[in-house]
Amino acid sequence: DQELEDESDEDLEIRPPVVTVMGHVDHGKTRLLDAIRQTNVVAGEAGGITQHIGAYQVWTEHEGYERAITFIDTPGHEAFTAMRARGAQVTDMAVLVVAADDGVMPQTVEALNHAQAAGVPIVVAVNKVDKEDANPAKIRQQLTEFGLVAEEYGGDVMFVDVSARNGTGIENLLDAILLTADAGLDLRANPNKDARGVAIEARLDKGRGAVATVLIQSGTLRVGDSIVAGTAYGRVRAMSDENGVAISEAYPARAVQVQGLSSVPRAGDTFLVTEEDRTARQIAEKREAVERNAQLAKARKRISLEDFTRALEEGKVDALNLIIKGDVSGAVEALEEALLKIEVDDSVQLRIIHRGVGAVTESDVNLATVDNAIIVGFNVRPDSKARERAAREGVDIRFYSVIYAALEDIESSLKGMLKPEFEEHQSGLAEIREIFRSSKVGNIAGVLVRSGIITRNAKARVIRNGVVVGDNLAIDSLRRFKDDVTEVRDGYEAGIGLGKFNDIQIGDEIETIEMKEKVRA
Ligand code: GDP
Repeated sequence: DQELEDESDEDLEIRPPVVTVMGHVDHGKTRLLDAIRQTNVVAGEAGGITQHIGAYQVWTEHEGYERAITFIDTPGHEAFTAMRARGAQVTDMAVLVVAADDGVMPQTVEALNHAQAAGVPIVVAVNKVDKEDANPAKIRQQLTEFGLVAEEYGGDVMFVDVSARNGTGIENLLDAILLTADAGLDLRANPNKDARGVAIEARLDKGRGAVATVLIQSGTLRVGDSIVAGTAYGRVRAMSDENGVAISEAYPARAVQVQGLSSVPRAGDTFLVTEEDRTARQIAEKREAVERNAQLAKARKRISLEDFTRALEEGKVDALNLIIKGDVSGAVEALEEALLKIEVDDSVQLRIIHRGVGAVTESDVNLATVDNAIIVGFNVRPDSKARERAAREGVDIRFYSVIYAALEDIESSLKGMLKPEFEEHQSGLAEIREIFRSSKVGNIAGVLVRSGIITRNAKARVIRNGVVVGDNLAIDSLRRFKDDVTEVRDGYEAGIGLGKFNDIQIGDEIETIEMKEKVRA
């Protein structure tokens, strides 16, 4: 966007949308990506052998024009979120695959949460409509609950029935993608400048060294260009496309595999072309140093539940983002429901940005990183990757095995109740031995202090046979003989006036109370 602002309109040319396919496991993401690829009859695949390089482009006829669409072909939202965690917005749109015979499942919801969090429009592919028990209408209905309302129901989300197996509905899906892109997205880029983009996949090849697939986001990448991708740098020695065909130039929204980098960049690393080789290396080295510091700073900055409460008390935050993971959906729902019922000040917001069943995954941690959320695990634990990443990023994961304990913790945080709790503490105990009746100052109790110290400014309580008969009483007067004193120690006699409280009897006890800070576990 920054770049769009820097450029005048006439420099910008329309570019293909970049699309990610997400959805529940086994709903047909992989098969759909294959089916889409097979419809690609327009582009010449001559001589090429299909290569999985992390993305491919298909051409389709749309309203009389040949249009291209780029698909990221690592199905699933994990890669998507991992890239987003590095600050890279790679995709323009998400295709949410839902099997018509199975319906909305936990990962369907997870995928749509991720897409919505990224703010990208969604096209729903209702897959497996060839199956006997397929119920595409039910999918449309189920998804309205999650804010995806089909056009035929008066909403603005396009639903397309497809069968990845039979290859039906694929053209309609491509049309829906282009219609959605044209309706809501400004997909333009300047091809006439040095390339910039994002690495979407990379590996070390025995023969060829580091090979990285980069998605060009603006400009044109050419063989011979000096580039820096994350902390890797080098000259583009060779480029090839998803058909294994060598190419010399790559335009915006095109993904190409490049050779010639010094090391393997990570998915989500940005790349750019530099004028000189030396500059690329310098940028790479600088990035490495910056990254190291940023990692440290980020880990320090990330909020824990305690930090949140403290910040809330100081008026520095107003929203707590939560991710809830649990062992069974019932528990997750119950916890979510209970959390949303907590009554807090209007100025504080609780946002449950994602919920799901199963272990805390790396993808959960990534989402927590992007949106500065705290993860609540109910009867679940993180997998090892998630644990590692959470430790590295400083993400707070809280585990509970009883719902009320989770509720109590979060509720007190939302109310800014980190402040120490106080508990009462008996400071002195005295026994009433005599009573001096006075109509002027009220009754005066003649006491013997039995233990501790009776202090003038403490609160008093009157106890008769173990039962409290007067509570929270102010001590009006405290005297030794004729003198006003501030305290009387055990073993001494004194006169205590409790003001208007006259219901005292010989043998009653007077206890004085102090509030003391409760020691936290
Ligand atoms: P993924 O886990 O979402 O990538 O799902 P896959 O693409 O691996 O598909 C899971 C299973 O569903 C495989 O056995 C596919 O053959 C099957 N499948 C996928 N699409 C369809 C379809 O349109 N119709 C039918 N009948 N089966 C499908």
